[in-house]
Amino acid sequence: MRAGPITPSESTTIRRLPARAASTWESIAAILDEGFVCHVGFVGADGRPYVIPTAYGRVDDVLFLHGSPASRMLRTLAGGIDICVTVTLIDGFVLARSAFHHSLNYRSVVVLGRAVEEQDAAAKAAALNAFVDHVVPGRAADARAPSALEVRKTTVLRLPLREASAKVRTGPPVDEPADLGLPVWGGVVPLWLHAGRPEPDGQGTALSLTPPHYLNADGPARRAAIAHRDPI
Ligand SMILES: Cc1cc2nc3c(=O)[nH]c(=O)nc-3n(C[C@H](O)[C@H](O)[C@H](O)COP(=O)(O)OP(=O)(O)OC[C@H]3O[C@@H](n4cnc5c(N)ncnc54)[C@H](O)[C@@H]3O)c2cc1C
Repeated sequence: MRAGPITPSESTTIRRLPARAASTWESIAAILDEGFVCHVGFVGADGRPYVIPTAYGRVDDVLFLHGSPASRMLRTLAGGIDICVTVTLIDGFVLARSAFHHSLNYRSVVVLGRAVEEQDAAAKAAALNAFVDHVVPGRAADARAPSALEVRKTTVLRLPLREASAKVRTGPPVDEPADLGLPVWGGVVPLWLHAGRPEPDGQGTALSLTPPHYLNADGPARRAAIAHRDPI
């Protein structure tokens, strides 16, 4: 589990609309666990900024990034440079009567820090399991475990979750009182990611897969299921 609370730093204190700050460890962990893609921001060796989308896994208070040793991003990050990782969940279209007040309901996390390469083989294997279980909880136990060669052929970086913030927008649009009488629909269209019917590849043994039920649940039910890390 996490060693201590998240204390906002000078860089992670939410100043713009601070009422939307939700930088508790619990909300940061919940947003990270529900997301599938993070965006990694860093300044490359050429001095230019890059923001690269990638998968991630979380084990306690460590965020893991992984990939090929040939990845420019991973090689650059392993140099111990300052990075910024974001995860964004979109919960709804916020449709106001005025164009100006249109918005999105969201939950997002920003993590600042420096990643280091995970060298310990056992820790690396655990991180690789976390990547698989992050997508489908319980799946790592079913799948063939990575071989020693596969572990060696994967770069794993660990980013401690020490300096992080979470920001959340919920609720209906905030319309001007004078606009409420306009003949324009106002409200929220909820959004969430939805898993389709599994498509077998037709190879190997004819097993069936039930997708994790939370992927077809609505927002609150899905969040509750993820919080309990229900296996399939
Ligand atoms: C889906 C989505 C759509 C958005 N659309 C817009 C838009 O169109 N225009 C707009 O101005 N803003 C938008 N925002 C909000 C935006 O992310 C910033 O919060 C906002 O622009 C203020 O930026 P700032 O640098 O002034 O914040 P500051 O409050 O000065 O940022 C200080 C620190 O607060 C933290 N922080 C800031 N924003 C976030 C965040 N979203 N999540 C987690 N931590 C954060 C970071 O640690 C940051 O370093 C959107 C956010 C999301 C998730």
